[in-house]
Amino acid sequence: MNTYNNQALWRTYLFIVGFSFLAATTFLYLKWVDIKRDANTEQTYANNLVTNSMESLLRKNETMLNVLGKRLVELTELGDMKLAQLMADEARDTNSEFAAVSLAGAAGELILNSSNINRQLAVNLLAEENTRATFEQALTSDRLVMGRTYFMKAIQEWVIPILLSIKNERGEVNAVMGAAIRLGSVHSLWSSDSLPAHLKLIVVRKDLYRQYVSFLKEEQYSEWYDNAVSERLTTLVDDLLNKQAGLSLKDIRTGQKSAQIMLPNKEGVLHFSIITYDTVYEHYTITSTLVKTLLAEMISPSFWLLVVLTVFNIGLFLIFRFNGRLQNEAKDSLAFQVEHDSLTALPNRRFLSREFSIWSEKYQGRFSVLFIDLSNFKACNDLYGHSTGDRILREVAVRITKSFSGCLCIRQGGDEFIILGPEKDKEALTNDCNEFLTQLNKTITLGHLEFSVNANIGIALSPKDGDSLDELLRKADMAMYEAKRKQEDIAFYSENLEQKAKQVADIEKELRHALKRNEFSMVYQPQIDAISNEVLGLEALIRWNSEVLGFVPPDQFISVAEANGSIHAIGQFVIETAMSECIEISRKTAPRAIKLRLSVNVSVRQLLSDGFIENLIVTLEKYDRQGITFMIEVTESLLIEDLDRAKNILFHAKKVGIYVSLDDFGTGYSSLSVLSKLPINELKIDRSFVNDILVNKQDWLLAKSIINLSKSLAIPVVAEGVETKDQADMLAAHGCDIFQGYYFARPMKKDDIIEFLNKPKI
Ligand code: C2E
Ligand code: CA
Ligand code: CA
Repeated sequence: MNTYNNQALWRTYLFIVGFSFLAATTFLYLKWVDIKRDANTEQTYANNLVTNSMESLLRKNETMLNVLGKRLVELTELGDMKLAQLMADEARDTNSEFAAVSLAGAAGELILNSSNINRQLAVNLLAEENTRATFEQALTSDRLVMGRTYFMKAIQEWVIPILLSIKNERGEVNAVMGAAIRLGSVHSLWSSDSLPAHLKLIVVRKDLYRQYVSFLKEEQYSEWYDNAVSERLTTLVDDLLNKQAGLSLKDIRTGQKSAQIMLPNKEGVLHFSIITYDTVYEHYTITSTLVKTLLAEMISPSFWLLVVLTVFNIGLFLIFRFNGRLQNEAKDSLAFQVEHDSLTALPNRRFLSREFSIWSEKYQGRFSVLFIDLSNFKACNDLYGHSTGDRILREVAVRITKSFSGCLCIRQGGDEFIILGPEKDKEALTNDCNEFLTQLNKTITLGHLEFSVNANIGIALSPKDGDSLDELLRKADMAMYEAKRKQEDIAFYSENLEQKAKQVADIEKELRHALKRNEFSMVYQPQIDAISNEVLGLEALIRWNSEVLGFVPPDQFISVAEANGSIHAIGQFVIETAMSECIEISRKTAPRAIKLRLSVNVSVRQLLSDGFIENLIVTLEKYDRQGITFMIEVTESLLIEDLDRAKNILFHAKKVGIYVSLDDFGTGYSSLSVLSKLPINELKIDRSFVNDILVNKQDWLLAKSIINLSKSLAIPVVAEGVETKDQADMLAAHGCDIFQGYYFARPMKKDDIIEFLNKPKI
């Protein structure tokens, strides 16, 4: 099977595959965007939650510290330190998030504190590094101030300090009420059910100290809370913000309030973060999710997409491959149809043209070319119809392939076949061909009909006779025609044939001007009654004396004239000349008891041409043929090729009084049944049999059987080509009616015939 590249088909396939990948990528991208949007929503919500929780925590504590602070200031002013102490402790006990409660003077000095504070470790809030800024802020602010997260040594705990200044009616600061909120308790503000576990939360103060980090272990507190966010990190964040969102931290602080950003942490692990800024309590809230966690959400859709994509593409591939195969098969069958004969399934000429060079190469230019032509196949087709003809051809093809297995068998068209076979000597090839012809000849039975097929084979050999396909075929064809002409089964091409072909070409060329140049003439050969020895009739025979080629016998040029169609004009010349000359002969010779008979040869091509008889009648009417019987001689073997038509024409001839002689009898295959149906007035035994009747028993038997046949049909029989007395005697003894031949008279010109007829008999 040929493989064709179905480029267009596979291009479509690749396009669809490409498109499906593009669609998948787009889908995944949109999914990613979706995941990020979800994360954004979730984290923004978390940020708001944190901010709100912190706000409400501070607000609540602000009120509480205000009330508590004022009361403590009163009590200390009253000197009831005991009650004050009690209240401070109670405040701490009832608020679980308070690690400690204290009251400091405006100068930072500790006035009162919950009793869990180790006084030794307690510090002046204004003096202490961690608390100074917050304390100063608290002094000037009306609101609660939240300080940096720090480790409060006095209670040995990490806390977020909150301070509120307690003012008198005049607005002067009496004291600063403080509480330390347990860092651990902050976490419960946005308890785990409100915040998903994968979220990391960082609250960073405006001064870039971290207020709260959700994911730290205790040992990391100091590192994270005691130091501000490094400048390097802030620059990095600013940078990334700028790149990813076109914003800066300042923008977030002052207006935007929120931004989404991909951020590496200290270890370089990428996080998806949302940064918001709370302008009231002035801190950033940053929630982060590991990008990995988000990507994990992509795994399932990606996996399924990949599965779908793979299944889709494999399915598609199979469909396309199937389609491709179908297309290839269609192309193959088309190619087969183009290069094979539909009737016999044998390869045709087109195939041969393509295959020839391969064949030639395979056998290194040494091989044989056989041209096979079935005999009389056209007649069979015409007689029994084309479907019968087709069935015979199919059987012939089977026999050919069987006999020439290993050879290249081609149907050239019609009833012609070509065989390319390996090189063999002439004898072996002849044997092969004979064997094949024996097989071919075996009866083919179709229903109640039986057929026996014959063929002529012409052979050309490569490289002796040529190496191109055209040349070899031409020469094998030429040899085949030679075999047909000679009525032989097989003929090899020889140079001789080429010469003959050249001769034919010359004849054809000269034939064109022959009529115009008046190069034709007629001679007449007497036909003698076997018993009375009287001249019964004359056979008109054409002669051509060509200016260029000299004398050319009719055997050579009639077939050429038939082939090129000039036979019609020549035939007309023959009839007209023979008629007028014969009338003259009849006039110039002694009156006769029976009319002189003029026999004119009519080639089958001429006979079967349209309007032949009508035209003949018109021609004959031009002459006064009272003294003449007009007879046409038609070749038997050729006549039966189109029997039906021939029959009609001959009956037409009979109707108008034209006689018919069956010429060259014995060379064809007419049976008694065929003959009895035709209006025949005479049989002529072919001179090839007459020639040898004395030496060849076979020929004599044939001549005898023809005589017998004519007797049974009651038709006179003529022996032509009688050259000796012995031949004449033998034929006469067996009942031959009429003689024609050199023994009696040669063909003669008109004047010689007149002289011959007027010669007194001895
Ligand atoms: P055919 O019709 O068989 O003509 C008889 C041939 O036998 C003639 O040859 C004649 O000269 C020759 N012949 C007669 N007696 C003898 C004999 O004793 N010995 C030998 N060896 N030959 C003898 P010709 O004239 O050469 O004609 C050859 C063929 O050419 C004719 O064979 C006929 O088929 C064809 N032909 C001749 N003239 C015409 C014509 O005017 N029209 C057509 N269509 N064909 C013609
Ligand atoms: Ca004849
Ligand atoms: Ca003859």
